[in-house]
Amino acid sequence: MKDASSHTRPVNLILLGPPGAGKGTQARMLEQRFGLVQLSTGDLLRGAVAAGTAAGKAAKAVMEAGELVSDEIVLAVLKDRLDAPDVAAGTILDGFPRTAAQAEALDALLAERGQKIDAVISLEVDDEAMVARVAGRFTCAACGEGYHDDFKPPSVAGVCDKCGGTEMIRRADDNAETVRTRLGAYHAQTAPLISYYASRKVLTRVPAMGAIDDIARDLGAIIGKVTAGT
Ligand code: AMP
Repeated sequence: MKDASSHTRPVNLILLGPPGAGKGTQARMLEQRFGLVQLSTGDLLRGAVAAGTAAGKAAKAVMEAGELVSDEIVLAVLKDRLDAPDVAAGTILDGFPRTAAQAEALDALLAERGQKIDAVISLEVDDEAMVARVAGRFTCAACGEGYHDDFKPPSVAGVCDKCGGTEMIRRADDNAETVRTRLGAYHAQTAPLISYYASRKVLTRVPAMGAIDDIARDLGAIIGKVTAGT
């Protein structure tokens, strides 16, 4: 189903939730359907690390430790991306904002562009399950399809079901110890944004321990209402 044509101005959505909640998986499923672009600051930072830029060099050790990269660096990489022409129709922000300062900076960045946050969805999950989910995950290097050692192994070990690729990548920070640090950072610095956006009346909480397709259906219904009103 395609709802891409149903909004006439840029729409900006935020997916909030701890590591492993499914933000990236859901954002990738929703972007095409609604004509929006997934914007993951984690992906942007990993790109900067791989490219060896100054921002990447500064971020690398912090990311490997599971701590938050400084607002200054994160905002710099995000700003660059926001100015790319393909994000003109709107964004699904995944992993950003993660601090109150980032949330305020985001409002200012969008206001400069005549835009705003239209909806914030909090994916509600159990922390303990997140450690197992994140510690076993890996992706196909060629097409980005996500897998998991226990919950979603490829049909043939080492071969991507989707594209036949044979190179799989595991993130350096997807181990049990670092996930616990990342969960700690989420609760200390990011979870307060749930009440911040609730008080602005843009927040919806979605139970997100179920099947990926069921959650995508729930999110699609919420986003469909948002885009229909634009
Ligand atoms: P993610 O891919 O969203 O899980 O992010 C991976 C890592 O990148 C995080 O553990 C942080 O070290 C860093 N990171 C990503 N987004 C942000 C952000 N908005 N603020 C600070 N650090 C971030």
